[in-house]
Amino acid sequence: MKFSNVMVAGSGVLGSQIAYQTAYKGFQVTVYDINDEALDKAKERVEKLMTLYKQDFDLTDADVQQGYERMRFSANLSEAVQDADLVIEAVPEKLAIKKDFYTKLGEVAPDKTIFATNTSTLLPSQFAKETGRPEKFLALHFANDIRVKNTAEIMKHEGTDDHVFQALVEFAEAIGMVPLPIYKEQPGYILNSLLVPFLNAGQELLVNDIADAHTIDKTWMVATGSPAGPFAILDTVGIRTAYNISYAKGEAGDEAAQKVATFLKEEMIDKGKLGTESGEGFYKYPNPAYLEKDFLKA
Ligand code: NAD
Repeated sequence: MKFSNVMVAGSGVLGSQIAYQTAYKGFQVTVYDINDEALDKAKERVEKLMTLYKQDFDLTDADVQQGYERMRFSANLSEAVQDADLVIEAVPEKLAIKKDFYTKLGEVAPDKTIFATNTSTLLPSQFAKETGRPEKFLALHFANDIRVKNTAEIMKHEGTDDHVFQALVEFAEAIGMVPLPIYKEQPGYILNSLLVPFLNAGQELLVNDIADAHTIDKTWMVATGSPAGPFAILDTVGIRTAYNISYAKGEAGDEAAQKVATFLKEEMIDKGKLGTESGEGFYKYPNPAYLEKDFLKA
């Protein structure tokens, strides 16, 4: 299975990054979104990304322009997908939108086209039927800021063909990602299966007055050699996102999560402490204490 033409569906935060990274690495990319207005926004996002690529990888204008020249933009689904070997889908995280999108895509895509979803919280099996080709469908999950945080979690559902799975592992590597094969469906993939309980454990230690945030981070950093502890990570994730996760669990009856959610709302969000994006969370930015050389000392 050889991929040359890739269609990226949905050109928002993640779709625009996936599209540019794929084009930058030499593939022909068609960006598909619902209308020209959305595509104009995508072009703006890509221009900003090109500046970041130049800065981060010490590239010239000509280097980043080459990637851009391999991209085209279309709001017409059947035209956008006509030559696609692979579709990477990054449409909004709503089951009804995904189902509707795959039903329409399945009707117009060539038989050869493989479909990969970037969903974060849904499972591929929830909309495999709508694709009309479950054996050629799986998850390819990126992290935000894919040019630097280059994980690609490749996850099968029960009906995914092994050759398709292997082809996606190879494709992920070809676009500069670290491929992380996942053999069975798992909510949260590998990363969030590890990270979410870890962050919850840290937050519960804090809201139960066991220790303060910086001491908890320091413990983790000294003992494991990690560059950051749970609260530094929470600042990067964003306190609003952390709150939404705990709030949802609290609503479902988890009392510990409810306590965390109340803390995040009253002590953080209401005080404008949203993490790195607002300049303050559990640390103050741009020079957070955990990066100071004395932080790990007594
Ligand atoms: P976003 O809201 O920034 O972008 C969604 C895009 O999809 C928009 O451009 C919108 O116009 C377009 N769209 C809406 N309906 C569509 C349709 N029917 N067909 C085609 N395009 C349509 O969303 P996002 O943050 O980029 O998330 C997209 C997907 O990526 C979600 O499944 C999400 O879980 C996943 N994801 C997001 C992140 C993240 O950090 N934002 C990280 C990993 C995975």
